[in-house]
Order: sequence, then C-alpha cells, then structure tokens
Amino acid sequence: MANLRSKALEMIQNRPPVAPVSHPNRVSEMFGENVFTQEVMKQYLTKDVYKALQAVIDHGSTVGRDIAESVANGMKAWAIEKGASHYTHWFQPLTGLTAEKHDAFLKMEGNKAVEAFSGDNLVQQEPDASSLPSGGIRNTFEARGYTAWDPSSPAFIFETPYGKTLCIPTIFVSYTGEALDYKAPLLKTIEVLNKAAVDVCHFFDRSVKRVTPTLGIEQEYFLIDRTWADLRPDLTMCGRAVIGAPPARGQQLEDHYFGSIPERVFACMKEFEIECFRVGIPLTTRHNEVAPSQFECAPIFEELNVAIDHNLLLMDLLDRVSRKHNFRVLLHEKPFAFINGSGKHNNWSIATDAGKNLLSPGNAPKDNLQFLTFFINIIKALHVHADLMRAVIASAANDHRLGANEAPPAIISAFIGTQLSKILDELEKPNRKKNADVPKNYVKLGIPKIPEILLDNTDRNRTSPFAFTGNKFEFRAVGSSANSAGPMIVLNSIVANQLIEFKKTVDRKVVRGKKKEAAILEVLRDYVKESKAIRFEGNGYSKEWEDEAATRGLSNIKQTPRALDAYVSKQSLELFANLGIFKHHELHARHEIRVEQYIKKIDIEAQLQIEMLTSYVIPASISYQSVVLGNINAMKAAGLEQNAYDAQLHIVRSISDELGKAHANVAKLSEMLKVAESVSPMREQAIYYGDNIVPLMAEIRLSADALENLVADDHWPLPKYREMLFAK
Ligand code: ADP
Ligand code: MG
Repeated sequence: MANLRSKALEMIQNRPPVAPVSHPNRVSEMFGENVFTQEVMKQYLTKDVYKALQAVIDHGSTVGRDIAESVANGMKAWAIEKGASHYTHWFQPLTGLTAEKHDAFLKMEGNKAVEAFSGDNLVQQEPDASSLPSGGIRNTFEARGYTAWDPSSPAFIFETPYGKTLCIPTIFVSYTGEALDYKAPLLKTIEVLNKAAVDVCHFFDRSVKRVTPTLGIEQEYFLIDRTWADLRPDLTMCGRAVIGAPPARGQQLEDHYFGSIPERVFACMKEFEIECFRVGIPLTTRHNEVAPSQFECAPIFEELNVAIDHNLLLMDLLDRVSRKHNFRVLLHEKPFAFINGSGKHNNWSIATDAGKNLLSPGNAPKDNLQFLTFFINIIKALHVHADLMRAVIASAANDHRLGANEAPPAIISAFIGTQLSKILDELEKPNRKKNADVPKNYVKLGIPKIPEILLDNTDRNRTSPFAFTGNKFEFRAVGSSANSAGPMIVLNSIVANQLIEFKKTVDRKVVRGKKKEAAILEVLRDYVKESKAIRFEGNGYSKEWEDEAATRGLSNIKQTPRALDAYVSKQSLELFANLGIFKHHELHARHEIRVEQYIKKIDIEAQLQIEMLTSYVIPASISYQSVVLGNINAMKAAGLEQNAYDAQLHIVRSISDELGKAHANVAKLSEMLKVAESVSPMREQAIYYGDNIVPLMAEIRLSADALENLVADDHWPLPKYREMLFAK
C-alpha cells in the first residue's frame, strides 16, 4: 500500500491539465443556452400562454391545466431540438442533496413510439420516494409524496457526454399537504416576507407592489487529486479525513489566499465555469482560499429561490467536472482537521419590484428612514431568534468549524460597522427638542444622516456570523455543504414576522394620534435598545467575546444535538405556525431528521475510524516496529553494546505506547457505539454521540497521528496531508 502512495505521487506529478470542452470565447455566446429562458419561451409559446405564465411567475398564482399543456408542448419541442431524450422533476428532499427520477419522452401509439410530454407530466410527478427522509410524517399519514412544478425557477437541460435530460425544478410534498422538501416551505416564506415587507414599504412609498429577497452565495471547497481520495477510505466515504497528522507547513505562511491558481486546477475551474454558464448560473468570482488546495467561487446575486437552485446545481457540477479533471471536490465543512474549514456565505437582501435594494441607504430623508426601518427590524429579528439561527446551521460537520478559531463562533451576533453603530447609538438617545442642538449631519426627521461612503463600506469583520456589508447582510456561519434553503427559510421567516409586528405597533400608535414618522422612530428607538446585546463589533474568535456574550445572555451552544433544541422551542413552533410555514408536527419531523442525520454522520465516521486504525494504522505500526526489532536483534547478535541501539529501543517503546493507547481506545469506541444503539430517545442518543463518541474519536486521532510521525514513511499506507494538500 505504501508503494501505492509513491506510485500515486509519480502519476499525479505527470498528470497534464485536461483541456476544457470546446466552447465559445465569449460568455454571452453560451450563457443560458441550456435554459428555458424568457427569450426561449417567447419563441416556443404563443403570446397568450407566455403572458399567462409570466403572470404566474410574477404573482405566484397557480397554473391552469390548459396553460400547463401548452407550456409542456413548447418545453418538449425545445428540449427535443436540444437533444434531450428524458425529463425529470428535480427536487430537494431533506437529505440536503437534490433528487431526480428520469422518464423518457415516450408514448406508445399501438406499437409505434412517439415522443410525448403532457401538461400533467410537467405539473406533477409521483416519484417513489419512500426511502427519502420524512421524519415519520409519511408513516403517520400513510400519504405518498408528489412533486409539483415551480414555474418561478427556470427549467434547464442537464448535459452529460452520454445524454441530455430536461430538468424541471419542483417542490416535494405529501398528499396531505406536508412539505417533504426545502423548496415548498422556502417558497411560502418568500410570499410571507413579500406581504410583510410591502406593507411596511407602504409607510414610505405606496407604489411598491412586490418585495423579493435576493441572494448571492459564495461557495468554498477543497480540490484534491482524485487518486489521493481513492486511497483514503475516509475521504471516499465521508469527505473528511478522520485521521492524519498536520503538515509542518499548513497555512502559517498565508501564501495561499488569492495566490496564483495551479494550472490543472485552472483548467478544471474553467470547464466548471463553462458548464455553469450554459445552465444560466452567473458565476463571476474565483480565487484561492486561505487553506492550501482550498478555493472559492461566487455568482452574481439572483432572486433567492433561483440562487438556491443554482447553488445546488453548482455543487453537482463541481463534483462532476472535477472528476473529469482527475480531482475530487470536497464540500465537507471540515475535510482536514488543523486546516481551515469551508463555509457558504449567504449574502441576503430584499428588493422592490422597481429594483430598489431596501438595504441600500439613500440620501433623501424618506429613504433614510426606510433603510433604517428595514435594517433595525432585521437586527431585532436576529436578537429575538438568535438561537433558531444557530440551530438551522447546526450539523455534525459544521460543529468542527463554528467556534474553532477560524469560522464565525457558535455565538450568533451581528456586525454592522462603526458608522451604523454610531447612527444607532445616536438614535437611541431620547427625543431631541425641536431646533435644539441637532448636529449638522442630521436630516430633517431628526435621524442621523447616513454617509454615502457606507455604500462601499470596506469595514469588514470576518469573524462575525452575520455581518452587514454595505447593502446586504452576509450570513457567514452556513456550512459549505448545506442547502441554503434551510437557513433562508429561517431568515425570511424571522424578518417577515418582525415586520408584521413592527407594522402593528406603528399602526397602534398612529390610531392613538401619533404622527406616522414619529411613531416609526419611536418603535425603532425601542428596538435599538432591546436588541443591543446582539450587536458585536469586536473579534468573534476571542475568548473575551465568549465571556462577554455570556454576560449579555447570548447562547453559545457548541454541539448540534443541544443547538437543535431551538428548532422546536415554543417560540419557533409558534413563529412558523403563525406564519403558515410549518405546522407543529412538520417542524418536529424536520428536527427529528436533523438529529438523526447527526447520529448517522458520526456513526459512519466512527466506524471508518475504527476500520482505518485496525486495517491501516495498527498493522503499519507493527510492521515497522518489527523492522526496528529485527535491527536490534541483528545488533545484539553482532555483539554491540545496548547503548548502540538505545534509539531503536526508544522508537519501539514509543510505538508500543501509542499502539497501546490506540488499541484500547478503538476497543472502547466499539463498545460505545454498541451502547449508543440502546440510548433513547433520539435526542439523548445524539447527545451521547456528541458528549462521548466525538471526544474519544479526537483522542484516537491523536494516537493515529502520533504513529504517523513515528513510522517510517515507506511503511505508511495512507496519503499524508502534505501530499494531498500540496502536491500539484
Ligand atoms: P466577499 O468575498 O467580500 O464577501 P464577494 O464579492 O465574493 O464578497 O461576494 C459577495 C456576494 O454578494 C456576491 O455573490 C454578490 O453578488 C452578492 N451581493 C451583492 N449585492 C447583493 C444583494 N443586494 N443581494 C444579495 N446578494 C448580493
Ligand atoms: Mg463573503
């Protein structure tokens, strides 16, 4: 096996970059060529059908049968012309991945085959999805699931060298109406937020008809040679190295971030970008990240629903394209201990139908107040629901990041920058008397003027989980492998709920005779005071912040099983039920799935660690020990004094010590896994995993890593960090 390692290294060093598929030079010539875009619709649909469909997309209404039939016809004609043979409803079950079941465009007329695709085929499908997670919902209700077309996200053709498939974005629900996916509730939150935000906009501007959340998702990932991954069962099976000593040179030199991109990686990125463009993903940014072999890409932001579909598609494309280039992409939050992990920054804002970004501070006094209204309401929502925001990003993998001195901490807080902090501090002061010493930078309404410089605010704080970055909030604590729909369902909901609350409070004051603007200011002032604890401008990685956060009453729950409790707290249950997003049992089902996933993930990693120690680490250590012992015996036989082989004895003993520890702990881990099986209920079982199994695995890892450093390199069977991360 060690031999395989050196062979692999030789092979990898001789690997040439793979040339990307042939493509036009200009993005504009390939962008969206595999998408059923508005332009394509105009060609393939009659004017009336096109108009009707646009109305559905713009107002979120339902599609009539005849419209569906006509759209299906147009879509089929386009897809077949493009060379597609099959179609699929593309959906987002609670596994966190996407799912698809392909059907041919085929109907038999007698014994003649004809291409067919009906309105029914477009609108609804019934995948046999009984093995997808439902958190017990389907058992209870004996309901089958079906997928239903989401016209607000465009259909596209997924192309592989072996065939093309028409993909139709869909929601996935049970026959009794429970959501079994991420998209169905997400679409509901977009509507709820729209309504709440439009109502608040009307305080300032009666012409606003619609408010839509926007999202730009930055995606971090590792790219390592495929052969290294093939030689490591842990990377192959769970995308994370469960053992492996840190290299002498990690990221200390800080030379990887924005460094030049190696050629093979560049070729792979290039092809990946081409594939993204063709399915309409507006990818713009690519660069090296902080850790060796870590990279990031980011598209231009889009409407939230589409941005999420595009991110899921992007993750799939990354996986496929990297394989072609003999890489393996690792989307895991923490593939390599001791090296930075990966996140998925969710840049979120809200915009009106006129294209105005509501989180863009304006110059006019009216705009100013409108901006502050949305801004402060979001801070307030975060303060009230911080624990829910923590819960929604919790996973076994993200636990390795949050609070581990590299990613935002497990404490939720908001960073808003010095200028806005000053403005909120000013706002908090009691009402100024008319014409009293109003500072120069105050606008008419008695609120501080927001300097224009804010627009290109560079006051960045990378340690904050939720940062305001000039014209949007950036939720940074989201894990790299997550479906962003989870966190966005929560963010949309808490903001919607807060805006509803705000409007009610202002309206009450107005009814009692307060002037509208004065009432708004009064409520905002209260919010600023009430939500102060959630604002933090300092270093989120520091120990001082942990202490201070505790005195402020902010939670700091480091492990998933307990963090997830907030998902089903009384407050969260009420929030989602009141907004009509989740009924109580639906939320409980989702909670159960998350807890179960935590258990399963750790269980798999633990089993793998046991296997890797038993079949690689321990045998390699014994085999090297035998070599050293053979040498000692030979020296003894040659009549050498003991001090001549002291070093050898020391090596043998050190290996014995670590082997003893490793062996005993592996046995203990096996025992614990058996005990874990019988712990119930599931939450307690998850806590057992978190409190006992996770720390023991960390201990076993230390022994394995110590052995890696004791055993001769040519006896070590597993690719080392150095090779996986630095071999180019
Ligand atoms: P950084 O790495 O500095 O955080 P990037 O430029 O890599 O920033 O990513 C910023 C992301 O935010 C991009 O995807 C960008 O399109 C997105 N973004 C910009 N404006 C908005 C907005 N109004 N709503 C949502 N996302 C936005
Ligand atoms: Mg960012």
